[in-house]
Amino acid sequence: MKVTYDNDIKTEVLNDKKIVILGYGSQGYAHSNNLKDSDFDVTVGLRQGSGSFEKLRRSNMPGAAIEEALQDADLVMMLLPDEHQPTVYEQYVKPNLKAGASLGFAHGFNVHFEQINPRDDINVFMVAPKGPGHTVRSTYTEGSGVPCLVAIHQDVTGDTKQQAYAYASAIGGGRAGIIETTFKEETETDLFGEQAVLCGGTAALVQAGFETLVEAGYAPEMAYFECLHELKLIVDLMYEGGINTMRYSISNTAEYGDLTRGNRLVTKDTKAAMKDILQEIQNGQFAKEYVDDCRNDYQTLLQLRGAHAQHPIETVGEQLRGMMPWIKKKPLVDQTIN
Ligand code: NAD
Ligand code: MG
Ligand code: MG
Repeated sequence: MKVTYDNDIKTEVLNDKKIVILGYGSQGYAHSNNLKDSDFDVTVGLRQGSGSFEKLRRSNMPGAAIEEALQDADLVMMLLPDEHQPTVYEQYVKPNLKAGASLGFAHGFNVHFEQINPRDDINVFMVAPKGPGHTVRSTYTEGSGVPCLVAIHQDVTGDTKQQAYAYASAIGGGRAGIIETTFKEETETDLFGEQAVLCGGTAALVQAGFETLVEAGYAPEMAYFECLHELKLIVDLMYEGGINTMRYSISNTAEYGDLTRGNRLVTKDTKAAMKDILQEIQNGQFAKEYVDDCRNDYQTLLQLRGAHAQHPIETVGEQLRGMMPWIKKKPLVDQTIN
């Protein structure tokens, strides 16, 4: 598989283009600020009266109401929540985007599951950073970046691929590596990763470990340090040198426990569940369930989010983090800014 870096990317293709970023959330904040710092012409499009206009002012970022921002736009990046993109596309983008312009996505969901059927006379591409928006910004300012996936869905002007690579490079992806894929492959692997391992799997594992210790009578503070706080230190080692480097760094005792106990937790049944989860993604069942919940005022999402926010691991964690002020010195997330 080919991995492309900045050296092999020409970004001039974006030089005279008016780039419009729709949304100023996790990814919108990062893309627009990275593009601006890479000297490209960028405007953020927001809903009339959006609270984010104040955030734009604070970071000195040009912005306008969506309709106005779309006038003369050459490249529009859809960085709204996936479930709101179809309406915004129909209402604003479809009638206003000029022919031959480019429409970009950071996730393949809407195009792959046909929630959006883009007009035939525009380019459609994807640049999907493989990391949270807050990290796309923090790594860029540190001189590194987050790896990106690039895909082309429609190419009417013949240079969509160059535009996509230039865009990925301008937000810092070319420092870490850019891989070409398809909307289908990105969508399915992204959903699987976040459900089975990164978010769903990890959060459930951390909570279950915490609960096991607390139920056995150990102090919640100890359980928090063992099952959540230390996870970052372990993941940092994996990030730097894979699972091997993590195992090199931990004690032989820890390594023996790891190698003999890990697969008692992640068993054949766990893998069977992973396969089911993957199948629900591939056959569209997950997408339908999610879209239905959004239309149902996020009943399931809000109920579960509320319940999990009350978990004792959150309360004890808040207290303990209060005693570690360095954690918040250079925060990835500052909700007043991004
Ligand atoms: P977000 O939820 O952080 O922010 C979206 C922004 O859109 C907010 O500023 C919000 O005010 C605005 N918005 C919400 N509803 C709107 C509406 N109806 N009309 C206009 N504006 C509206 O979104 P995000 O997490 O940055 O996700 C954006 C895209 O990036 C999605 O396609 C997502 O899958 C993709 N993505 C996100 C991440 C991530 O780290 N969050 C990672 C990779 C890809
Ligand atoms: Mg995702
Ligand atoms: Mg230990």
